[in-house]
Amino acid sequence: KKAIAVMTSGGDSPGMNAAARAVVRTALYEGVKVYGINNGYQGMLDDDIEELTSRSVSDLIQRGGTFLGTARCPEFKTPEGRRKGYENLVKRGIEGLVIIGGDGSLTGGSLLSKETGLPIVGLPGTIDNDVWGMDYTIGCDTAANTIVDAINKLRDTASAHRRIMLVEVMGRNSGWLAMMSGIAGGAEFVLVPEVKFNIDTMCEEIKEMYDAGKRYSIIVVAEGAGSAIEIGKAVEEKTGIDTRVSVLGHIQRGGSPTVEDRMKASMLGEKAALAIISGASDVVFGFNEGKVVAVNLFEAVNNTKTLNPELVRLARVLA
Ligand code: ADP
Repeated sequence: KKAIAVMTSGGDSPGMNAAARAVVRTALYEGVKVYGINNGYQGMLDDDIEELTSRSVSDLIQRGGTFLGTARCPEFKTPEGRRKGYENLVKRGIEGLVIIGGDGSLTGGSLLSKETGLPIVGLPGTIDNDVWGMDYTIGCDTAANTIVDAINKLRDTASAHRRIMLVEVMGRNSGWLAMMSGIAGGAEFVLVPEVKFNIDTMCEEIKEMYDAGKRYSIIVVAEGAGSAIEIGKAVEEKTGIDTRVSVLGHIQRGGSPTVEDRMKASMLGEKAALAIISGASDVVFGFNEGKVVAVNLFEAVNNTKTLNPELVRLARVLA
């Protein structure tokens, strides 16, 4: 292959830069031209595409966000939109595309591949860790660390005032971030969309803990499980204990990627570049149980990942 392209799409995540950098440098090392598509599918449609050099990706490995920019692009959901994007690639001689993004972005990529035959390799770039067939996505480790850091701080003030503290975290329909940060942050309760919960029972348990002398209680709420503000109101009413809510929001998306995210993003970026150069298509590279796995793109987007039941049990046992 003579030329490939790389893009980031959907919600940004720490480590996207490291992944794109690895794609660019691997391609150049192999003597292949590499284009960067700015602002996701929107840039593909707007023809906002430029050739990248090794220097284009300097000073990036430590940065969160994505130097390519990202966007949400409704027009790409139409076949006409995808055709228009494809033509902007073909006219530059681009013969393969690496897409770094979440479930939605990979779905868009799978349609582009099916309709045009353009070879597509995906990398899972999302803090949500919700891509089927793998237990890691680029950025999830940094986000989980950010949340745990916040929980540590909230614990200090909750304890000082004998308060109940609810922490709402991201994850869309997935409870993975909540579960990981709940376990690592030592939360008393973790509310996730995958597991039914009963606020009344939880409140009874909290009251018992307080009666037994506990000074505070941390409840991590996945955004997909409900609004922490609403749940917090109910908890305060039912327990009569001073309750506060902290919605962490976009803090969770930013920051310098952890070593784990940098390393895995770099390894996956190299894999993706080598695969697309050698003519592979319709595959998403990820990590599962510590090893690189290649998941079929269509299977990845057509299946829904479930939450590891061992984590659910561990959170309950340790609380
Ligand atoms: P993420 O990739 O983080 O899941 P989104 O779901 O917002 O983020 O998807 C990012 C972009 O991918 C959308 O703005 C759209 O351009 C494209 N996309 C998402 N879902 C589809 C779909 N079903 N068909 C075609 N394109 C899609």
